[in-house]
Amino acid sequence: MSAITNHLPTAELQALDAAHHMHPFTTNDELAEKGVRIITRASGIYLTDSEGNEILDAMAGLWCVNIGYGRDELAEVAARQMRELPYYNTFFMTTHVPVIALAKKIAELAPGDLNHVFFAGSGSEANDTNIRMVRHYWSEKGKPTKSIIISRNNAYHGSSVGSGSLGGMSAMHAQGGLPIPDIHHIEQPYWWAEGGDMDPEEFGLQRAQELEKAILELGEDRVAAFIAEPVQGAGGVIIPPASYWPEIQRICDKYEILLIADEVICGFGRTGNWFGSETMGIRPDIMTIAKGLSSGYAPIGGSIVSDEIAAVIGASEFNHGYTYSGHPVAAAVALENLRILEEEGVVAHVRDVAGPYLKEKWEALGDHPLVGEARIVGMMGSIALVPNKNSRAPFAEAGTAGFVCRERCFANNLVMRHVGDRMIISPPLVITIEEIDVMIARARKALDECYAELQKRNLLSVD
Ligand SMILES: *Cc1c(COP(=O)(O)O)cnc(C)c1O
Repeated sequence: MSAITNHLPTAELQALDAAHHMHPFTTNDELAEKGVRIITRASGIYLTDSEGNEILDAMAGLWCVNIGYGRDELAEVAARQMRELPYYNTFFMTTHVPVIALAKKIAELAPGDLNHVFFAGSGSEANDTNIRMVRHYWSEKGKPTKSIIISRNNAYHGSSVGSGSLGGMSAMHAQGGLPIPDIHHIEQPYWWAEGGDMDPEEFGLQRAQELEKAILELGEDRVAAFIAEPVQGAGGVIIPPASYWPEIQRICDKYEILLIADEVICGFGRTGNWFGSETMGIRPDIMTIAKGLSSGYAPIGGSIVSDEIAAVIGASEFNHGYTYSGHPVAAAVALENLRILEEEGVVAHVRDVAGPYLKEKWEALGDHPLVGEARIVGMMGSIALVPNKNSRAPFAEAGTAGFVCRERCFANNLVMRHVGDRMIISPPLVITIEEIDVMIARARKALDECYAELQKRNLLSVD
């Protein structure tokens, strides 16, 4: 067995981590100074760290551990598949049973005529596939000028050069020469922060119509596709006004713009349906999937595409693919994950049991003096921290309150993330009613402590 064990002292592991491991989206020097937290095991919705703390993971890892931690079935399927066929590619006129079975299962679950899957190793890779696929699609249809993909500011579509360009994170664009050409960003449907005096539904319509404006400005003959998350995740769990998506669908239909729904977070039950597109009532041409597809037990992603796109792409060679497209172990693990989600009624649990209960408890946090709004759909929720409950005005220094709150969550053995001054949750879908009570109690305690600290530091304003 490997020489790395859980039994080294925490300080020694921290020093080794600081010496050799570069963390994603992290100021590594600062982390080394502070000392990284070491997660050693997990079960259900709880993580255990190297100091023996039991931490409730209200983020399901990174929005992905939909069935919860510690499911032996997946470990057994992975071990069996590794013994039988640990790897083979699907490039050279070959395939294997796990990828066939998984593609068939995904086609069954996906709505409408989304019946074909191009596999990738992650959500970023899948979105890179989408960029090339939609451009190639239009080119094959004799419209090679249709190459622009419209996306939104503050969207998250991954961290590779392509997917990071699709995303609308300005901090990411500032490093490494992003975005690539022919990606165009419009504004997001974020009423709380950007809606001013408008009514939310009126604002939702206005933001959707920015897509139409962009198409008309750029020229219909230049635009290939529009990509968006049904509910923005990493941007702060931003649930669009109800008016937004129907208008987007109307515009995509009118101008024959392909609609790509990035379902990497919303897919596989998170919003109370198999896909966020169903919750939002849209009919995408392509869906990006990853995360919940395997509940994070193995890295796998993909693009689910319509019959029409598959037919066009299928007529000639598409010069694209990854060594690990449809990796047999990852595919077998994903298939077992889907079996559990389906047979244990996990999506119905979100829709009918845990979702409605959590909604009531989550929205009740809106009463807290630090909370401006508390919104949730299925198992994705966010609260806006504000200095003054009577207005939507933000804190003077964005992110301070969120950071303090996240620290208080950690201190109370709760993983809740902050995006600026929004606190967000995305717990495992299997969370029980009793566990929701524990989660909410810890969140409320963290909010109280955060409020007290902000008060002490004179960061609150009251009128
Ligand atoms: C996480 C995420 C991605 C990127 O997936 P990776 O597996 O991290 O590459 C893409 N889109 C959305 C909406 C995501 O949340």
